[in-house]
Amino acid sequence: MERIFLTKYIIITGGVVSSIGKGITSASMGRILRSYGLNVGAIKIDPYLNWDSGTLNPYQHGEVFVTSDGMETDLDLGHYERFLDVELQGLANITTGKVYKSVISKEREGKFLGACVQVIPHITNEIKEMIRATSETGNYDVVLIELGGTVGDIESQPFLEALRQLRNEERSENVMFVHVTFIPYLNAAGEFKTKPTQHSTKELRSMGINPDVIVCRSQEPIDKALRDKIAHFCDVDPKAVVNTPDATTIYEVPLVLEENNIGALIVNRIGLDVVSDSSKLCGWSEIVKSLKIDNPVVTIGIVGKYVELEDAYISIRESLQHAAASIGVKAKIKYLSSDVEKLDIEAMSEFDGILIPGGFGERGFEGKLDAVDYAIENNIPLFGICLGMQSMVTQFARRNGYLDANSSEFDSEINHPVIDMMEEQKKIKNIGGTMRLGSYDCKIIEGTKTYEAYSELDIKERHRHRYEFNNDYRNDLQEKGLIISGTSPDDFLVEIIELPNHPWAIGCQFHPEFKSRPNRPHPLFKSFVKASYDYSKN
Ligand code: GLN
Repeated sequence: MERIFLTKYIIITGGVVSSIGKGITSASMGRILRSYGLNVGAIKIDPYLNWDSGTLNPYQHGEVFVTSDGMETDLDLGHYERFLDVELQGLANITTGKVYKSVISKEREGKFLGACVQVIPHITNEIKEMIRATSETGNYDVVLIELGGTVGDIESQPFLEALRQLRNEERSENVMFVHVTFIPYLNAAGEFKTKPTQHSTKELRSMGINPDVIVCRSQEPIDKALRDKIAHFCDVDPKAVVNTPDATTIYEVPLVLEENNIGALIVNRIGLDVVSDSSKLCGWSEIVKSLKIDNPVVTIGIVGKYVELEDAYISIRESLQHAAASIGVKAKIKYLSSDVEKLDIEAMSEFDGILIPGGFGERGFEGKLDAVDYAIENNIPLFGICLGMQSMVTQFARRNGYLDANSSEFDSEINHPVIDMMEEQKKIKNIGGTMRLGSYDCKIIEGTKTYEAYSELDIKERHRHRYEFNNDYRNDLQEKGLIISGTSPDDFLVEIIELPNHPWAIGCQFHPEFKSRPNRPHPLFKSFVKASYDYSKN
């Protein structure tokens, strides 16, 4: 019987160098197709051996994104969720670790009895199975599959082979390949160079994969002659060589791609049952316009320890920008290290609002406490997220009689662990994937600033932590003025706190940044940026 093909696939590979924005390119193509009314899914493949991103250092790999079902994933899933305005499942992040772990478990269960278990076919079959399983969860018309790293990396090989097989099994008319490369500009020669793109395309073709589209990233626009040259050498239709020079905001990329008719190209190539129509991106261009506003400016300081790599706080940065655009201001974001002997007060004095993000380990914690103190003393809006909230509670306790208050994460012997390990966490031995992860219900208390921000009593937010507010101190700290403005539905876990006698000082145990969208800024971010803007005017 003829098989009915439901889901089409767009596979995105990278060439030349990493960090050229494959994730944004994939998410942008997804945005275009979503605007045509299609149901779009997205998968990120990370060819490293870690099972998930949870144990990776943010310095190396950027932020760890958390899905609502509690998977710690690559930050590209954040781009997909923001651009597509969807909630993805943890399944959407496939790693070499997950693939091998699953194949080895199957081998131990005796599922391959008699066979010598090999990369081809066992690993490649597992990869295809994982892709299909993810595709089936959403009844998708089309699924984007982004392969991390660059073509030619040793660890990518089994994935490229599996993707090549997928194209044959699902038929070429349902699967297309988009190769994203970088076109460097050589100052000495005064010209752009296409050779690296030619080489990486050749490498891809040596694996049996001919790209249908080449997206050329560059710092400045490249001209038609150069695009034609790439088309000629890489055996691609000239119309399918698309240039995306650096944009003012990443949200502009769908517009740039659509100006180059990429929507029509995709729709025709894999036979999607819609009419491509660039006017469908109208709403999106309005959002981009609001994000490009230059004035007035509100300066937000992020005080944390992973400040050298902006990607470590990428969802927070985006959430601040969504919030600012929604109230007609520009968020200028500054990063300040908390891992110092003494906080840079001069730098702090420029901030209209202070945000203390999440983090792990003692390094930089005292600096965060000093930032809380500074915000209290100067009445500057203060937003604490996860470890940021724990810093607010600790500093409030220290200022109110518990001089040695701390989190037991940093000192297990202390007299006053106002932040302590959750009971169920105490039995856990393995570090990976065992925190309180994913979406949980939270009840907001009426009459609080938090309620003013949300205008809702029941919310759901995503978590990633092992420690929490210690209930032994709840009554006493409340008597001293601390406001508890959100708890778990059974009232047991403190989820949100507010500092008293302050224009805006809210700390939450969860990560609101994972739910903000350019078209739907998160209520807490919006309220914080608004308070910071009000502060800037005084
Ligand atoms: N280290 C803290 C905990 O585990 C905070 C975690 C975070 O900020 N994401 O509770």
